[in-house]
Amino acid sequence: MDFSQSPLLVIWEVTQACDLACVHCRASARPGRNPDELSTEDGYRLLEQVKSFGPSGPMGSPLFIFTGGDPLKRPDLYDMIRYGVGLGLRICVTPSSTPLLTEDAIDGFKAAGVSRMAISIDGANAETHDSFRQVPGSFDRCLMALRHAQKIGLETQFQTTVTQRNIHQLPAIAEIVREVGSKMWSLFFLIVTGRASAADDLTAEEYEQVFGVMYDLSKTAPFDIKSTEAMHYRRYILQRQKAERGQGLESESAKRMAFRTAGVSDGRGFVFVSHTGEIYPSGFLAISGGNVRRQSLPDVYRTSPVFLALRDAKQREGKCGACEYVHVCGGSRSRAYALTGDCLAEDPRCTYVPTGYEEPVPA
Ligand code: SF4
Repeated sequence: MDFSQSPLLVIWEVTQACDLACVHCRASARPGRNPDELSTEDGYRLLEQVKSFGPSGPMGSPLFIFTGGDPLKRPDLYDMIRYGVGLGLRICVTPSSTPLLTEDAIDGFKAAGVSRMAISIDGANAETHDSFRQVPGSFDRCLMALRHAQKIGLETQFQTTVTQRNIHQLPAIAEIVREVGSKMWSLFFLIVTGRASAADDLTAEEYEQVFGVMYDLSKTAPFDIKSTEAMHYRRYILQRQKAERGQGLESESAKRMAFRTAGVSDGRGFVFVSHTGEIYPSGFLAISGGNVRRQSLPDVYRTSPVFLALRDAKQREGKCGACEYVHVCGGSRSRAYALTGDCLAEDPRCTYVPTGYEEPVPA
């Protein structure tokens, strides 16, 4: 796939309004909508521009994700979903677990042609999850949504942000993913931005421990497992595959996932449009390449200096610049930016030391 021309995923933050108050919220969301949000007409134009990217892989056009805040805070959400489906786009929606997420709302997603609904659960029980989301009843509503989607045949993706609060609950959370029949478990690794606290972040060694849990689970799980903002899980998969080769122990599912997502990172195969139209390499990396109100999304994605720099492996610094895994991994540019202020710096949460690499001597 040629990610210099077309992304795999386009994510639109339709609003930052949300009735939850999650402790790790990237957007520092609040209940009210911003009057400067993109309009319905802006949304239609954006969907047309995404269609104009053309095929981005075996699945056709980029996958388009309506996210927030809470997308259900917009009364025009269903009109925009129908418009995107009518253009032939594959649409995913990520509603928040608030009273707006009812069985009727989920039936509406299915009727409008949504391909997949993503629901975030950050704990194995209500106590852990609801303390993240800071709203009692959120865990139960997530389960209701996932079970209802399962009942009506709407595919789901289960999302978990991994932090110090839930690192020991991952196997128990995996049991819930299995029970509700989700197609994919997407583990988000914390970027310390917005309301996220550095105290909740994992150490680089703990990332490796979580990768081990993910990889071992992937050998038997009936769902796919992927990482978000932990591109080095792909390096971990390749290392485990190499160690297990010829022993019949390799995870075919993890191998498939590493192949499908190889090289995808912030600004490379991935583009995020903010609620006010800013075009970012990721929702966690607020360096704007332009604005969809004034520029074409494909032009900005293909030619803006920030996107070009992020896609150029030769511009990676530190260990990532010297790493033999740079083309499948490359490190999280969002994490590098959040923790060092330099989006091209090495990923500070990777334990790997590239062959022959020597740490620079401090001046
Ligand atoms: S050093 Fe950088 S490119 Fe290499 S595996 Fe770690 S994060 Fe990925």
